[in-house]
Amino acid sequence: MIRQIKNSELYFDGCSTVELAKKYGTPLYVLSETDIVSRFRELREGFTQKYENTRVAYAAKAFGTMAMFRLCQREGICIDVVSAGELYTAIKAGFPPEMIEFNGNNKLPYEIEMALGYGIGRFIVDGLCETDLIEAICKEKGKTASILFRITPGVKSDSHDYIVTGKKDSKFGIPLDEDVLYPQIKKAIESEYINFLGFHFHVGSQLHDNSSHLQAVETILEHTGEVKRRFDYDIKELNIGGGFGVKYTNEDRKSFSYFLDPAMEMIESYFKKLGIKRPEIVIEPGRSIVAEAGISLYTIGSIKEIKDIRKYVSVDGGMTDNIRPALYQAVYDGVIANKADQEKTEKVTICGKCCESGDILIRDIDIANPQAGDIFAVFSTGAYGYSMASNYNKNPIPAVVLVKEGRSELIVKRQSFDDMIQNEIIPESLR
Ligand SMILES: *Cc1c(COP(=O)(O)O)cnc(C)c1O
Repeated sequence: MIRQIKNSELYFDGCSTVELAKKYGTPLYVLSETDIVSRFRELREGFTQKYENTRVAYAAKAFGTMAMFRLCQREGICIDVVSAGELYTAIKAGFPPEMIEFNGNNKLPYEIEMALGYGIGRFIVDGLCETDLIEAICKEKGKTASILFRITPGVKSDSHDYIVTGKKDSKFGIPLDEDVLYPQIKKAIESEYINFLGFHFHVGSQLHDNSSHLQAVETILEHTGEVKRRFDYDIKELNIGGGFGVKYTNEDRKSFSYFLDPAMEMIESYFKKLGIKRPEIVIEPGRSIVAEAGISLYTIGSIKEIKDIRKYVSVDGGMTDNIRPALYQAVYDGVIANKADQEKTEKVTICGKCCESGDILIRDIDIANPQAGDIFAVFSTGAYGYSMASNYNKNPIPAVVLVKEGRSELIVKRQSFDDMIQNEIIPESLR
């Protein structure tokens, strides 16, 4: 177990969280290498080694730092970036460009140029003008680009509206309308600057039911067959996205196989029937790799009891280091790390220190008797925590520590006040 209790203290991947808080300060993100590596292992055993011609591309946006990219590289995992900034970070970490794919619904001309310059593996084209844009830039630079089309499979998935991406009314993807998609495909096949690889979808995030993926697989297969019929063109790659759900509180986390086995069965039998070689199958997990591998540590400060209503326990971070509760009512669990085995006698609300009433991390959680100075740990914060952090109220972005079997190493330094103001200028007119 990654989480253990010893001498009343919460341990995480062999490290005392109380000691980590003392050593590195709070708020602090802690990431377990053991947990991340075990997810990669599960994917190797249940996917890439089980089915040949398959690949995993980690969605960098979940947690994209140089150390994380190094870990991916060591484990043979590709990455999926959605901005020049993520791409730059990966390249600076020494990540092989050909193992990078570029997603996103509005890739800017300079981002495409930069990606072509580094020689990335493929672009996932999302939108109707992007093929032309990529083609024009390739023409100018004398390059070719490998592309997939991200389609909108038109499935509904059971998740928060903000993280559902596969329905037709979405800013992501190309709608499947006959007169929209097929001219794009024809253009891509005919272009001398474009190597058309196949289709991509991503149906949403934090899914615990495989039906959206399976519906979307069915759709993508139909179009793969249609491309063969119309253009006698063999699709080389199908990317079925990420979105595999994790455990924040009491969700029943499914294995990767629960999603991938039935999908692979559909795919393999489809191509067997068609009598053509199955394309490479790619997945893009983000959250499911890092969410449960992360915890956040805070120091408890002000405690306010509103008689018969609620007890607010404030911590030294909040929506600046974890926006998810405020952004989409995400629910978390946690514990007082230095009282981890004590009876949970109080129902409290854990709030942040930002000037927003919505800056609540956990509503109505049972914990041991809280006191100022206690260390509070929030679980499953490894995904979309650090990567969504902000400087609201000029709170510095916390440090990130990578832990493994009792060893801890800093992978992101805590932001300093000077870091926060380094780009600010007092103009001549105000001097
Ligand atoms: C966000 C995203 C992912 C990863 O989603 P998770 O829910 O974190 O697994 C994969 N692919 C695309 C295109 C995405 O936008």
